[in-house]
Amino acid sequence: MILLFLGASGSGKDTQARNLVKDYGFLNIGSGEMLRLFIKKNNSLGRLVKKYVNCGNLVPDKMFWEVVSAYIKKSSKRSNVVYQGFVRKVSQIEILDTILRKEGRTIDKVVYFDLSVGEAIKRLSKRRICPRCNEIYDLEDKKPEKPGICDNDGVRLIQREDDKPDAIRRRMKFYTSNIEQILAIYKERGILVKVDASRNIFEVYDELKNKIGYND
Ligand code: AMP
Repeated sequence: MILLFLGASGSGKDTQARNLVKDYGFLNIGSGEMLRLFIKKNNSLGRLVKKYVNCGNLVPDKMFWEVVSAYIKKSSKRSNVVYQGFVRKVSQIEILDTILRKEGRTIDKVVYFDLSVGEAIKRLSKRRICPRCNEIYDLEDKKPEKPGICDNDGVRLIQREDDKPDAIRRRMKFYTSNIEQILAIYKERGILVKVDASRNIFEVYDELKNKIGYND
């Protein structure tokens, strides 16, 4: 099953994708994550990409696809994949379709994690991540055992540069001006499902499994 997750940053897409990885062996690939991995290479394209990502701007199309299409190709052997974040404006729908089509695949379901922008902003400002294993923490709802330290590998947690207030505002502006049009297109295709992302992690996961037909 090929899934595309849509929703504001902070709506829990990655947390839920990790649940599907753990329980059903899905491969989870997020566009932001791929870009951050690429940035770590510290080559000239990576340094350019970093400028866009750190201040919360969308990476221009040509540069974005140059980086991520290699990662998408690598996923083509897997039968269950969650792609998240790859579609943030209407033009990217067609581009993603084309890349997947070349690999002989199509999106089975698009899952929209429905959360108000106000709540997403609140969550992002409390988010901390492990720079090594990318585990995500929340300063109130998912605290690490030792304050500021990752439970998995003991590395000091950081706040992403683009989780700081100015960058958050910019990211949300792009999100709100594009999401309705994107949803309308997938709805028209009959592959859109919605989950209420305002509830707790377990409830959201239950609803997600129901909506994609993985209720055990
Ligand atoms: P995320 O980790 O999903 O919040 O994404 C982090 C950042 O990566 C975004 O704020 C953008 O700068 C960049 N990015 C992720 N996905 C895309 C995309 N589909 N198009 C352009 N830029 C993207």
